[in-house]
Amino acid sequence: MERRYSQQQHTIKNALHCLDHPTAADVYGEVRKTLPSISLGTVYRNINRLVDDGVILRVSTPGEADRFDACVDEHIHVTCKRCGHVVDAEGEDVLSSLHELVEAIGATSGIRIDEYALSFSGLCSDCQESEEAAALQTKK
Ligand SMILES: [Zn+2]
Ligand SMILES: [Zn+2]
Repeated sequence: MERRYSQQQHTIKNALHCLDHPTAADVYGEVRKTLPSISLGTVYRNINRLVDDGVILRVSTPGEADRFDACVDEHIHVTCKRCGHVVDAEGEDVLSSLHELVEAIGATSGIRIDEYALSFSGLCSDCQESEEAAALQTKK
């Protein structure tokens, strides 16, 4: 059965496509430009429905607000702990190593793995630079 999307869901989906790994609050801010009377609760509900339908991905980072991704092709997320920027890691190298890892874990545990969540975090290149700059400042 084909699911029919409402005007609200279309607007929310479009907002997700424009934004880079937004939080629900970011999506709400964007959607309100088109639908000023929409509530945050409605945005949350629709986002959850889109996740359940597999139209968008939920990106969970421990201790941070969930982010969402309109790109559902397989890729890994790496989050900057300082500025919260989410970077996509994708490509043949990353994915083939990932599949090997999942296979090895499946073989060792005896569980046929059909779902996994990996979380990677650190400092993005911008934050590394500002950290180095700050370190130089304090040396002076
Ligand atoms: Zn950063
Ligand atoms: Zn992504």
